[in-house]
Amino acid sequence: MRIAVIGTGYVGLVSGICYAELGHSVVCVDKDPDKLATLQAGGIPIYEPGLKELSAKGVAAGRLRYTGDLAEAVRDAELVVIAVGTPPLPSGEADLVYIDAAALEIADSLRAGAIVAVKSTVPVGTNERVQGLIRTRTTVPFDSVSLPEFLREGSAIRDTLEPDRVVIGAESREAAEKLASLHRPLTRNILITDLRSAELLKYASNAFLATKISLINEIANICEKVGADVSQVAEGMGLDRRIGPAFLQAGIGYGGSCFPKDTRALIQIAGHVAYDFKLLRSVVEVNREQRLNVVRKLETIFDGELRGKTVAVWGLSFKPNTDDVRESPALEIMRRLTEAGARVRAYDPVAMPNFRKLFGDEGVDWCDAAEEAASGADALCLLTEWEEFAREDLHKLQTILKRPILIDGRNLFKEEDLKGTSFVYYSIGRPSLN
Ligand code: NAD
Repeated sequence: MRIAVIGTGYVGLVSGICYAELGHSVVCVDKDPDKLATLQAGGIPIYEPGLKELSAKGVAAGRLRYTGDLAEAVRDAELVVIAVGTPPLPSGEADLVYIDAAALEIADSLRAGAIVAVKSTVPVGTNERVQGLIRTRTTVPFDSVSLPEFLREGSAIRDTLEPDRVVIGAESREAAEKLASLHRPLTRNILITDLRSAELLKYASNAFLATKISLINEIANICEKVGADVSQVAEGMGLDRRIGPAFLQAGIGYGGSCFPKDTRALIQIAGHVAYDFKLLRSVVEVNREQRLNVVRKLETIFDGELRGKTVAVWGLSFKPNTDDVRESPALEIMRRLTEAGARVRAYDPVAMPNFRKLFGDEGVDWCDAAEEAASGADALCLLTEWEEFAREDLHKLQTILKRPILIDGRNLFKEEDLKGTSFVYYSIGRPSLN
């Protein structure tokens, strides 16, 4: 198939590269000249394991190329995939400005019989809106398909090449079948729905996962008060097949470019039809509070006085294996710490440059290694569970810190890891040690 992918963010880039890997002829389009220059020079503008190699393979095979010329890319395409951003407006609603602009641009060069698929996460009715916008500019026949994306940053290639399911929302059976054939090499689980159900299903899935996270975090908070251990509670819950073990890790809450944005957008979608989504409002509220758990623990340890303290922070991305810092809990935690007068020594294996752009330099020393960040600090807070932190020698670490205080916001360490050390260890929903 000849495919044009509009937008080379996490979703568009990974999808485009993977479609090329399947043998299709793919052109990826982006407006951002810096991203484009990186891609055309053989680089990858995001951190995603394995992506650079797969892109190089597609380019070398002549199946993949990158361009800034949308019209040229769309002119020949049998399938046009829209994968532009849908960032939140201050109200929480998804901003459709990039979707609308892409739709209008596509219209001017769309070939007859093409399929326009929206992969971006969009409010219910957006595919119909895209159709309407295209029809204001062209009379060529085309089909609209909603093709929601479920990949996770950090394992994006695997999630794309071996997805749990592919959802295709379509009005036309023929268009749905064409896209089903495109994705059949990846999975047997292909669900064909109507346009609106596909759009809502994406939000509903993220709302469910966010709910699971906030639920286990509230259970963790209760565990701390009643002297239970949330990792044991979660293990027992997860053995029930109706519940399952995924997304039951207590911690400082979810972040990233999807869950915070999509939960708030779904609350707005419900609000537009006069439905108060009470459960999801609570999920968002619990999550907002949960990240402050780390700050509260520090305040308790230091009798409410953080001024003049040095706090080491390990991990800035919203989860490991990504450089994405959008809505990362570390942003709010570090803001609170620096506002309270603490000095932060921060380290992350890949996300530091992105984090710095959002956070600025006020009150922070950026460090090149985990141990450098810990050096001389009054306490250490682990905010992202990068694998390299789990390998740290805690016996050595306790000698580097000024005081051996460790707040593990992701429950990365186990009791046996701490054995023989003098660490005062706090985690989330588990008994503190020493
Ligand atoms: P992103 O912001 O990383 O990338 C969007 C890209 O689109 C940017 O590079 C931008 O320059 C480009 N763009 C915007 N308008 C354009 C135009 N008219 N022509 C060409 N390029 C244009 O976004 P993302 O994280 O890839 O997310 C894209 C969508 O997918 C969002 O709706 C998001 O909610 C959804 N989604 C994201 C993830 C994820 O893990 N990031 C997962 C599932 C779904």
